Amino acid sequence: MTPLSEPAIRASFVNCTKGEATRLALPRDLAERSWADLDFLGWRDPAGAERAYLVAESGAGLLGVALRVASQAGRARRSMCSLCLTTHIGDGVSLMTARKAGPAGRAGNSVGSYLCADLACSLYLRGKKNAGRRLDESITLAEKIDRTTANLAAFLQQVLA
Ligand SMILES: [Zn+2]
Repeated sequence: MTPLSEPAIRASFVNCTKGEATRLALPRDLAERSWADLDFLGWRDPAGAERAYLVAESGAGLLGVALRVASQAGRARRSMCSLCLTTHIGDGVSLMTARKAGPAGRAGNSVGSYLCADLACSLYLRGKKNAGRRLDESITLAEKIDRTTANLAAFLQQVLA
């Protein structure tokens, strides 16, 4: 993806208040991220374990979503990310919940999905980060990226719906 600036990231959030978007903690390594390897920007709040964020390019422009990370207690020891389909052992996958955008969100509605706990789906797909195990698949990297992007678009659509 195209490298993003801090103001562009902060302006992209659709499911939190302007104040929250102004205050949320951005990745500390924004300048050093390998943007060419990213299908979306995702990060855990460096100051708070229960928050995560993702920002993606969409047909409607940049789309940022604030997520709440569920506690890991009692979770299965192996699970799969619903975006990139990487299987993690241990706590590598977390249930993340996004408040819906607009009135639906203010009414308390949210959508949840199991995602790579570090939101580094793009790097797992490209083999730049090792999760220990991936599905044996005969499809190409480009096809896996397309599938991940489609899964992400479907998730973002639910947040916007
Ligand atoms: Zn993933």
